[in-house]
Amino acid sequence: MSLKDPYAVLGVSRDASADDLRTAYRKLARQYHPDVNPDNPEAEEKFKEASQAYAVLSDDEKRARFDQTGSIDEVPNQDFFQNVDFSDLFEAFMGGFGTSGRASRSAGRNGEDLRAEVTLELLDVLTGVEKPINYRRMARCSVCSGSGAAHGTQPETCGTCKGQGMVTRVQDTFIGSIRTSTTCPTCGGAGKQIKSPCENCKGRGLEVVDADISVSVPPGIEDGMTLRVSGRGSDGVGAGAPGDLYVVVHVKQDARFIRNGADVHTDLDLTFPQVALGDKVKLRGLTDELDVNVKAGTQPGHEFRFKGEGLPRVHGGARGSLFARVRVNVPSKVTDDVAELLRKYAEMTGGPIPKGEEGGFLGTLFGKKKK
Ligand SMILES: [Zn+2]
Ligand SMILES: [Zn+2]
Repeated sequence: MSLKDPYAVLGVSRDASADDLRTAYRKLARQYHPDVNPDNPEAEEKFKEASQAYAVLSDDEKRARFDQTGSIDEVPNQDFFQNVDFSDLFEAFMGGFGTSGRASRSAGRNGEDLRAEVTLELLDVLTGVEKPINYRRMARCSVCSGSGAAHGTQPETCGTCKGQGMVTRVQDTFIGSIRTSTTCPTCGGAGKQIKSPCENCKGRGLEVVDADISVSVPPGIEDGMTLRVSGRGSDGVGAGAPGDLYVVVHVKQDARFIRNGADVHTDLDLTFPQVALGDKVKLRGLTDELDVNVKAGTQPGHEFRFKGEGLPRVHGGARGSLFARVRVNVPSKVTDDVAELLRKYAEMTGGPIPKGEEGGFLGTLFGKKKK
């Protein structure tokens, strides 16, 4: 069997160090491994080539022989993988794909992430606010300090994994045997076993506690946004890290202002004489009283815009706008004198003269007059 130049296959120079070789091989292995390229004979071939090249060059004797003779023909077929450390390969994979691997180093279980909710008034959004949150979390047991072992006893090293938290499985495949590691089924990755469990936590190492913290909600927050409070979830077990607390923010509907992102909308109530003749009025904004210059002939539905009088944005920048929409108020009840005036107004402006509602007070009024 003749092989390609192993240096060319790995893409390294003749004086490549052991580290260079390993790096080059890991890169190719990640790229061409059959698990990543199912049913791809080309990738499979490339993976074999790279593995063969690495097997030759990572062995000093074989590498020297190749350097002298340019030949590796005498390397027996089944010998290629003898010198390849497949735990290396496994690591290369785990490093590349981010699965598991974490448990082996932490020898514990990370704490759960938790969720809490807070409700804000719209005006809280303007300035931001500190909100107290009461919730329940799993904390390290106060009796056993999280070890899970009864008072005066210690957790013992797990017999299955010898305290490693991980067990290694060897699998025979066409490219040789591959070692894979999984969390120890006996101790769940903790590396320790509890013979006499703590009564308070039943050996779990955790107990339920009430927690109260204060979260600072930034200005501009929108309904449904989530704040992450790092490390305030449940505690982990063993060397596991605590989880995070996710705080879902709700913003209450306001009676006067309708929110649209950083903008707010409100109504401006005016009377018919005000819109007809024009006026200067005050409008209560989110923070200040605003001056509104109502021009003569302003129509219902007209919108006044006040830039910078809306809400702040959660990522910073200028405040949004406040929009005030004109509503023209119609009196629900008028006196005889006013009714007379309105009728006169209708006559003078050439509009239809109201007959008044059927059987109503105006109808009666005009009805009387016609007699
Ligand atoms: Zn305990
Ligand atoms: Zn174990």
